[in-house]
Amino acid sequence: MRFSEFGLNTLKEVPAEAEIVSHQLMLRAGLIRRLASGLFTWMPLGLRVLRKVERIVREEMDRAGALELLMPAVQPAELWQESGRWDQYGSLLLRMRDRHERDYCFGPTHEEVITDIARRELKSYRQLPINFYQVQTKFRDEIRPRFGVMRAREFIMKDAYSFHVDQASLEEGYQRMHAAYTAIFQRLGLRFRVVDADSGEIGGSRSQEFHVIADSGEDAIAYSEEDHYASNIETAITLPPEGSRPAATATMQKVKTPGKKTISDLCEFLDVRPEQTLKTLIVEGETQPVALVLRGDHELNAIKAARLPGVFSPLRMADPKTIREATGSPSGYAGPIGLEIPVFYDHATKPMSDFVCGANEADMHMTGVNFGRDMEEPETVDIRNVVEGDRVPGGKGTLKIARGIEVGHIFQLGTKYSQAMGATVLDQEGNETVMAMGCYGIGVTRIVGAAIEQNHDDRGIIWPDPMTPFDVILVPINMHRSNAVREAAEKLYEELRAMGLEVLFDDRDARPGVKFADAELIGIPHRLVVGERGLESGELEYRHRRDAESQMLKREAALDLLRGA
Ligand code: ATP
Ligand code: MG
Repeated sequence: MRFSEFGLNTLKEVPAEAEIVSHQLMLRAGLIRRLASGLFTWMPLGLRVLRKVERIVREEMDRAGALELLMPAVQPAELWQESGRWDQYGSLLLRMRDRHERDYCFGPTHEEVITDIARRELKSYRQLPINFYQVQTKFRDEIRPRFGVMRAREFIMKDAYSFHVDQASLEEGYQRMHAAYTAIFQRLGLRFRVVDADSGEIGGSRSQEFHVIADSGEDAIAYSEEDHYASNIETAITLPPEGSRPAATATMQKVKTPGKKTISDLCEFLDVRPEQTLKTLIVEGETQPVALVLRGDHELNAIKAARLPGVFSPLRMADPKTIREATGSPSGYAGPIGLEIPVFYDHATKPMSDFVCGANEADMHMTGVNFGRDMEEPETVDIRNVVEGDRVPGGKGTLKIARGIEVGHIFQLGTKYSQAMGATVLDQEGNETVMAMGCYGIGVTRIVGAAIEQNHDDRGIIWPDPMTPFDVILVPINMHRSNAVREAAEKLYEELRAMGLEVLFDDRDARPGVKFADAELIGIPHRLVVGERGLESGELEYRHRRDAESQMLKREAALDLLRGA
């Protein structure tokens, strides 16, 4: 490709709208352009990268025996009503109506459509197991689209769905996808970790996420260096603390704490540490509000809390009016003493003594509070996020926390959709049986952003070889003034392409500094410079994007080096 014919515009300035480096670099290198919130055009340079990612994904899916198909992006509401998700999916679902006033959605995922295919096409156990996949555009009306293509509204997903006669076959199919995903991310040259996205219950490998490790990741991953444990903190479990509770030394007192509604304000005012306080959160319940009590420095885990009996799922914080009715005070002063609604205590509250909590009265807190003496002994549950240093659930060592970008997700759905939508086959004995199902997603567009998060420096992108838009950038110096340089560069361009390499030939009449800066920004692994000086001695200047210095190589030696690229 000749740069002069490629229509590429690079940007010097860092675009103000881009918070993280991959988004900045994707805009600056001209890989994408923004149309509207969460909507992006893949420009020719970016599309070359995306196609490479897609190709690797397809090759590994095909190798694993999955069959590619292509489903419509627009889906009729009836299917979603059958599965029950028309009401459950909430405002992530973009709904629309056609000229006949019929309801549709733009598919955020395709379980319903594929289950409809399965119930019509699959009749016998002999057709199973089977795995269908597609690479397709999804739409999710994300609350906060950000980070460019990493959390977009419209994005491309590879989604696969497998159907099985029984659980054993599902597990086998799931393991096969686990292996295929591992191969995909290894081939892409990314550093990744597979984490449990399940509740961590016994045998809980029913859902795992593939995370690219990066500081800008939106997900926190709890992992152990001592064993294989790794879990999204959304689902990582906490264990009840070991050891006993220190004896009570203080007497309970009600103290004035005017306007001190947050733990940090309260701690500063009373000169106590957050670990000495309880925070009481009022959430919506199925029939009445529910109080959730945590140690002041801990964070509520919404997923775990929503699983508690009587708690509304998905978790919703109570509004100020409900809080007032439930506690008798404005929000910020709730405490567990004397509450007449159900109360759940987090495990970590159990060993606390002489603590501070809300008094259920405006501008008032209680200090020197103790379980057993001032209030009942708590029955504790797991409702908080794990923190670094917590015990590893398997028992070995303590947890570390890293950040990750979820690029893939594999899931054993069981019969959730096939049951609801009546997807059955005849089994070996001729009995009608509901198919077991797995689903497996990869964020194809997100991978490109994630790869840049992991592979860049202050000058630009450094593409891993498997996804680079071009293998080589050819940079002639002063080609527009030197015929010798022009001829040598043109010849080299032909030769490199004949070797099967993808070459970007920077034939612009621009200063070398401009060309070098662009080459580094767009991150092509190999750079060859053709200049008058080298030509005299039959040499080219070579530099890998990761090298600190260039080197002069004989023309043949340079070509040999690239032959391996
Ligand atoms: P997240 O937790 O990041 O919102 P999710 O768990 O809702 O993602 P899945 O339903 O598991 O996503 O979708 C499969 C894959 O699609 C994800 O692993 C992710 O890589 C990708 N993906 C999901 N939402 C987006 C988005 N808004 N923009 C880009 N890629 C996305
Ligand atoms: Mg997911």
